[in-house]
Amino acid sequence: MALNSNPRVGLVGWRGMVGSVLMQRMEAEGDFALVEPVFFSTSNAGGLLPAAIARFAKNERKLQSARDLKTLAACDVIITCQGSDFTKEAHAPLRAAGWKGYWIDAAKTLRMADDAVIVLDPVNLPVIKNALVKGLKNYIGGNCTVSCMLMGLGALFKADLVEWMTCTTYQAASGGGAQHMRELLTQMGTVNASVKALLDDPASAILEIDRQVAATQRGLSAEQTQHFMVPLAGSLIPWIDVDRGDGTSLEEWKGGAETNKILGRGAGFGTAAIPIDSICVRVGAMRCHSQSVTIKLRKDVPLPEIEQMIAADNEWARFVPNQREATIRQLTPVAVTGTMQIPVGRVRKLAMGPSYLGAFTIGDQLLWGAAEPLRRMLRILLEQ
Ligand code: NAP
Repeated sequence: MALNSNPRVGLVGWRGMVGSVLMQRMEAEGDFALVEPVFFSTSNAGGLLPAAIARFAKNERKLQSARDLKTLAACDVIITCQGSDFTKEAHAPLRAAGWKGYWIDAAKTLRMADDAVIVLDPVNLPVIKNALVKGLKNYIGGNCTVSCMLMGLGALFKADLVEWMTCTTYQAASGGGAQHMRELLTQMGTVNASVKALLDDPASAILEIDRQVAATQRGLSAEQTQHFMVPLAGSLIPWIDVDRGDGTSLEEWKGGAETNKILGRGAGFGTAAIPIDSICVRVGAMRCHSQSVTIKLRKDVPLPEIEQMIAADNEWARFVPNQREATIRQLTPVAVTGTMQIPVGRVRKLAMGPSYLGAFTIGDQLLWGAAEPLRRMLRILLEQ
């Protein structure tokens, strides 16, 4: 179903972390000019639009209630970055009331539903187009780590070269939300302050600094570790999201389940799923997720061919030569944060044999990992 010109697009969760980045990207790409934006709130319904978003509005001046199904149902498209609770609260009742609009969502709730597509159009445009032809109305952004990985390594999957893959992830604090980023930085400050005098003295003993740092980390209060539950500054946490009770975390399960669904593979598509497994680790990076992957190729493909495929797959994937200088300059969260680039480096054949490939990739998980696939889905709807 094609949208009318200037469709009403409801925006829920626009002031959260993903939502704020979505607003920036929609402004940068001129998306607001093509729609009638309607801004919703769960906390300030009826309030005037804050200056930060008022400039994007056309006729609407006030924040609408995200709990008012009638106003939501007046939208042709709803884009929500509000989170799973809102999706659970609003989506089913809207559909039950007969709403036929397009639902575009950052939350995990609907990703694996039969009537939903996980959107990452540089990788799965054919899957999205097929779903539009079939009349599907639910288009959901994928897990941030999965989306960033596929933006970098999608070429190998598209060519059906991947027999199986394992990943170790290095995920940023921002994956947990704004409060997690603040907690990490506060912990960093606390740890630094505890050894400041020793650091200022070039003659102080490093083992004394180390002892004091460990004592400070171990002594952080429940309040100081409220969000990550344990210290993260100067440490790492090899578990992300809930315990599935079978030795895996939910984040690790998503790696296999969502990757296959994005690619249009697995039981729901009548094809075999590609086995993908991970160990997901939280590290003290701010907003870029990185991952080290081992891929078993279906056949021995020469390295230059693989490098060329990665570099040519989409305009954002950047092949980084497997050399020290290029790697430390280009393949780090600090180099990538705030950019649309997805560098892929450390690409080499492994000691296990010529069909075993190693690689390392990074993406800004608020851009390709969250906001960008959503706004691109809106564009796909507008251009139908
Ligand atoms: P968030 O920053 O916590 O924002 C969600 C909502 O919290 C806001 O829309 C806002 O709703 C409310 N809120 C309350 N106090 C706030 C404050 N001080 N500042 C800003 N907002 C505040 O959540 P998020 O990290 O953007 O995640 C949104 C959804 O995207 C989740 O389902 C998440 O799982 C998913 N996702 C996140 C990431 C990521 O990297 N963080 C990546 C992929 C997907 P009101 O304006 O209505 O009060």
